[in-house]
Amino acid sequence: MNNEKQPTEQYIDSDFDQKHLWHPYTSMKNALPTYGVVSAEGVELQLDSGAKLIDGTSSWWACVHGYSHPKIVAAMQQQTQQLSHVMFGGITHRPAIELARMLVDMTSERLTKVFLADSGSIAVEVAMKMALQYWQGKDKPNKQKILTVKSGYHGDTFAAMSVCDPEGGMHTMFGELVTKQLFAPAPISKFGEEFDPSELTAIGTIIEDNHQQIAAVLIEPIMQGAGGMRFYHPDYLAALRRLCDKYDLLLILDEIATGFGRTGKLFAYEHANIEADILCLGKALTGGYVSLAATICSDEVARGVSESPAGVFMHGPTFMGNPLACSAAIASLELINQQQWQTQVASIESQMKSELADAKSFSNVVDVRVLGAVGVLEMNSTLNTAELQQQFVDLGVWIRPFSNLIYIMPPYTISAVQLSKLTSAMKTVASQISLPDSDIAFISHG
Ligand SMILES: *Cc1c(COP(=O)(O)O)cnc(C)c1O
Repeated sequence: MNNEKQPTEQYIDSDFDQKHLWHPYTSMKNALPTYGVVSAEGVELQLDSGAKLIDGTSSWWACVHGYSHPKIVAAMQQQTQQLSHVMFGGITHRPAIELARMLVDMTSERLTKVFLADSGSIAVEVAMKMALQYWQGKDKPNKQKILTVKSGYHGDTFAAMSVCDPEGGMHTMFGELVTKQLFAPAPISKFGEEFDPSELTAIGTIIEDNHQQIAAVLIEPIMQGAGGMRFYHPDYLAALRRLCDKYDLLLILDEIATGFGRTGKLFAYEHANIEADILCLGKALTGGYVSLAATICSDEVARGVSESPAGVFMHGPTFMGNPLACSAAIASLELINQQQWQTQVASIESQMKSELADAKSFSNVVDVRVLGAVGVLEMNSTLNTAELQQQFVDLGVWIRPFSNLIYIMPPYTISAVQLSKLTSAMKTVASQISLPDSDIAFISHG
């Protein structure tokens, strides 16, 4: 598909790729085009075509300090030489201990017990298993349901899928294998606008009617990400915490996308001044260098789990506590602890607010919204990802739209000039979308 590609000494065999390699959510029959990346530094991806692209995605929320960061690279290099992996059953090591200490310090007071998982989806699975085992330990084994809200996204494994949006997610596709959970309407009042307390009625009623079966309420705090890039009111989250306290339910917060500064607070739950009983972290945890996630719970939850009939928490992946991943995370969190992210995210936010504002007047733009280092143009129709992707590449940026959303969440280290290139590309592409398909095809190939 990408005709401009010139073979170089770093030639990438995209034919083999198309024939043999799955990519996220793609077909092996009509494989979508892929772009060969040979290296990346700062906020720039170097393609094999010679083109350099400014990254607007942080590689899906993860790469918050930019690519090839000398401090993270050095930490990983040093760690590989010393101890790249060792089983975590019956063995421990400094990288895991140091990382857990940092996570306990950074998160709210209640969160004290750290489970290191391989990926975000697994961190969600672990959180749900903890909740169920907690209630077994409390002699309430019937509390097995998870209550969540529509438009959520929590990962691709089976338990995680069961709490994703029931329509946009993968519920019907896998039938009986996906556990039936309880769904309340998605939060309505928007971040930064008035809160309408009447929206609590629906979820309040579900809780009142079902609390004896509910183990936990699980939600993405403040920002619903892959389920629609929706930013909701902190009062909703605060009210949910109160409902959980009133009916004795655990609150699981999935901060996998929002954690580590993305929404303008270190953790999005800080917007609502609340604490979780169980917190899921991932994505930016290692600065985007290697897969790692964490599920952190309170003393109370850990005690319940440990007093369940099993007597132990029933999860233990092969690569648990991988020292290489932990060392990347430690280096990334040390950068976070230097606090530059606060001014970086604040200035990204104000620049996106001013530069994206005029897109509101485009006829095909339904909404423009910005929260922290996340900027979204919501369009009035579903987008052709492959076509738009090519247009963005032609404009020298890496932005990957999905559904009806053109959005960016750049590395915090992006410069004002680079960010302007992203916002202007968003507006250029958005302003062309109202054309019929044939015209769009003409533009992207012309
Ligand atoms: C990405 C994401 C996950 C899943 O994480 P993976 O590492 O892709 O398994 C879960 N929850 C949220 C909110 C996410 O954004």
